[in-house]
Amino acid sequence: MSDAEGLSARLRALPQVQRLLDLPAARASGVSHVRLVTAIRQCLDEARAALLGGDAGHVAVDADALLDRALAIAAADAAPVLRRAINATGVVIHTNLGRAPLPEAALAAVVEVARGYSNLEYALDEGRRGSRTQGIEPLLCALTGAEAAVAVNNAAAAVLLALSVLAGGGEVIVSRGELVEIGGGFRIPDVIRQGGARLVEVGTTNRTRLADYADAITPDTRVLLKVHQSNYRVTGFTAAVGLDALGRLARERGLLLVQDLGSGAMADLARLGRPHEPTPREALAAGADLVAFSGDKLMGGPQAGLVVGSAAAVDPLRRHPLMRAMRLDKMSLAAIEATLRLYRDPEVAAREVPVLRMLAETAATTRDRAGRLAALLGGWDVEVVASTAYAGGGSLPEEAVASHAVAIAAPEGADALVQRLRDHRPAVIGRIAGGRVLLDMLTVSDDEVPEIAGALEAARR
Ligand SMILES: *Cc1c(COP(=O)(O)O)cnc(C)c1O
Repeated sequence: MSDAEGLSARLRALPQVQRLLDLPAARASGVSHVRLVTAIRQCLDEARAALLGGDAGHVAVDADALLDRALAIAAADAAPVLRRAINATGVVIHTNLGRAPLPEAALAAVVEVARGYSNLEYALDEGRRGSRTQGIEPLLCALTGAEAAVAVNNAAAAVLLALSVLAGGGEVIVSRGELVEIGGGFRIPDVIRQGGARLVEVGTTNRTRLADYADAITPDTRVLLKVHQSNYRVTGFTAAVGLDALGRLARERGLLLVQDLGSGAMADLARLGRPHEPTPREALAAGADLVAFSGDKLMGGPQAGLVVGSAAAVDPLRRHPLMRAMRLDKMSLAAIEATLRLYRDPEVAAREVPVLRMLAETAATTRDRAGRLAALLGGWDVEVVASTAYAGGGSLPEEAVASHAVAIAAPEGADALVQRLRDHRPAVIGRIAGGRVLLDMLTVSDDEVPEIAGALEAARR
């Protein structure tokens, strides 16, 4: 028999879909008919492609093996792609892992408004159409001292909207030291251009003076933009202009001062034992007309772009078509409102907002947690080690948080173990250092400790 004949014989030998469906194991699997047929077709397609690709030696062609493979495909397909993960990286605001875990109150609020109907755009006291941000605007104003507030999908959207409305067709002046990429390709110069404004760069990477801004002002200038250094630092021989001096210049020349605050700490982080981060309230008090910041970085709420400022700067944003395109959904609005409510009492916020709780955690607490996990890992070669955790997410870039990790020596190699932990449900995300798998305990909750032990137990089998 020629090779070609052998191949076609093998292809013909692949069973029909119905043959696999009729096997007792298919009946017993409990997988619905439609989903099982889809999985069997996929598995037969794979087998055919492998045979055609000359991989005959590795292709199962007997019916039982093919059905096993189809059932595995169906099982993998049953798990949602977006699912829970345990963050053992020690990076508190980890963009790849969903940034801020929500406060319990925010979770409850989401369930409450999402399960049924709500007064999303309905003024209950008047019985007519209301504003979808009715719940959060007064809170944002009270918490930041702003006259007006709006909210959109994320901070990048907020900056784009603000510059489109306030500077579209005119010029925006920015220091060369602040023409940054925030992450994910979000670059300040592109945002300015996209908003229909012209970028005017002043100063140098390391030094910009007030006169640099003043000299660049023309009749077309609309906005002075200040971008918070949330994910980088310029150190050494540096000079930058403070918000107060820029605010005075903006007022003298009839311009608006916009601050992209990015990380947006609503709490005084110094009270949690961390370096102080400028708050929206401070930025407004210092002279900014409009401040934009993220909901899911240091504020510790859902993804959102929050905008606070003077009525003159903020109110025009409401009427722009982009506002409609960037508006928040009811679940985010519920979560933002619930999170902001916690901030009305700083002690409640420190206790209830997970991001703040983690940032305030002492090294001793993380050591205890690491010890508890290590004690559950019988059979593994483990050690509790001091580690360095980070706020992350473009927040407090230089701020190392003293933490502890469980270091695990993996007999089959660290790469293989981190992969097994990622494949677990929930996924456990750690890192490799010095050939060992490190699971940092700053970003792991007490409830997750036994879950991690379970993941390691499963990884050993
Ligand atoms: C993170 C960040 C943004 C983007 O915020 P998103 O909410 O992720 O859109 C914008 N500006 C600065 C300075 C940031 O740090």
